Amino acid sequence: MSYKKSEQAFKEAYGVIPGGVDSPVRAFSSVGGTPVFIEKGEGGYLIDIDGNRYIDFVQSWGPLILGHADSDVQKAVIDAVKNGLSFGAPTTTETKLATEIVEMFDTIDKVRFVSSGTEAVMSAIRLARGYTKRDDFIKFTGCYHGHADSLLVQAGSGMATFGNPSSPGVPADLTKHTLLATYNDIDSVKKCFADSENGVSSIIIEPIAGNMGLVPADEAFLEELRELCDEHGALLIFDEVMSGFRASLRGSQGIISVKPDIITLGKVIGAGMPVGAFGASSQIMAQLSPEGPIYQAGTLSGNPVAMAAGLASLEKLKANPEIYTILEKRAKRLVEGFKEASDAVNIPMVIETRGSMFGFFFSDKPVKNFDDALENNSELFGKFHSKMIEKGVYLACSSFETGFISIATTDEMIEKAIIAAKKSLKELTE
Ligand SMILES: *Cc1c(COP(=O)(O)O)cnc(C)c1O
Repeated sequence: MSYKKSEQAFKEAYGVIPGGVDSPVRAFSSVGGTPVFIEKGEGGYLIDIDGNRYIDFVQSWGPLILGHADSDVQKAVIDAVKNGLSFGAPTTTETKLATEIVEMFDTIDKVRFVSSGTEAVMSAIRLARGYTKRDDFIKFTGCYHGHADSLLVQAGSGMATFGNPSSPGVPADLTKHTLLATYNDIDSVKKCFADSENGVSSIIIEPIAGNMGLVPADEAFLEELRELCDEHGALLIFDEVMSGFRASLRGSQGIISVKPDIITLGKVIGAGMPVGAFGASSQIMAQLSPEGPIYQAGTLSGNPVAMAAGLASLEKLKANPEIYTILEKRAKRLVEGFKEASDAVNIPMVIETRGSMFGFFFSDKPVKNFDDALENNSELFGKFHSKMIEKGVYLACSSFETGFISIATTDEMIEKAIIAAKKSLKELTE
């Protein structure tokens, strides 16, 4: 494969954009090589500006569960664009999308739309603090909740990739209310409650962590979080920006029975457009401005084009729930095939799936938390990633990310990716 045009494009981008990218995970810094610049997407494929074609297991980092350029989403967007891009006034599409979400989650009576997952989480934390009138909150090492100041503490995703414990530019004053616990370790959470001087407003967790690789929480652990929150009068926030409409139609709620107080959503609900949302009971949401005193706003919130894309996507998913069974089967087959490939060359691998999300670590022990995840062989992953790209398989460029299958990812594409994995690992061990 030739990457001449991408190499040139990266050079030019580097001159005017920090690192040549608008989000650090795109830069390939942990796996080596030049990021490929994308010309277009077609269903399960990405095509770069040199004309190379890849089976895409990133799917824009999650949103595109229907694949690239889905015809129904495309039509909804084009129809909406014809009426104008933004009004700064309410539209009925917002109510329609809100109704879809409220109908699907029995813990959500009302939902507010924002423009990114970061904004959704930032607003949810403010809501929990305002509602409980307490400042502290608990987050888990390796969970990523967007890049708001108070949440950039031992985050996963790009932060894990680059090994930054936190970020310069975030004042310690802004993170002193962020208490850190260990994923799947209830004693570490109890310690946070004991250590908190001002009282804990909330626990925020990815119930299916996808930003330290794919590491689902044990259901018993989530049950204990629920009990601790009830005991202490704190709110439980499930950050389902990634897992919502991905792990199942209702995210973790379709898999486990633990009920959160607030849910944050993003990615799939915008189908590739910038959308985030947070929802809770009417009682909690009533605290939000203009009904209540807690301020939260956005010029482009509930943008009509983005809402139209999200609505078309959710309606399609809801009308075809069998999609999730198919996606899960394909995701399982993919990682089982990857494991066959690594077994064949005696390299240990652990695999995981939840619905259309998949993860694999070059590691010889189960991964239950961020420390376990850090023990994966990320150097081998980097080499594997480059080999797979050469063979037309586009995987997330870090071992701390989750992979995604779309409904346009066919069985045949899965088998091709498995063959590529077998060849790649063989080449790397010869
Ligand atoms: C992606 C993600 C976010 C941040 O969403 P952005 O749209 O990138 O701001 C927050 N939480 C989780 C769990 C995510 O996966």
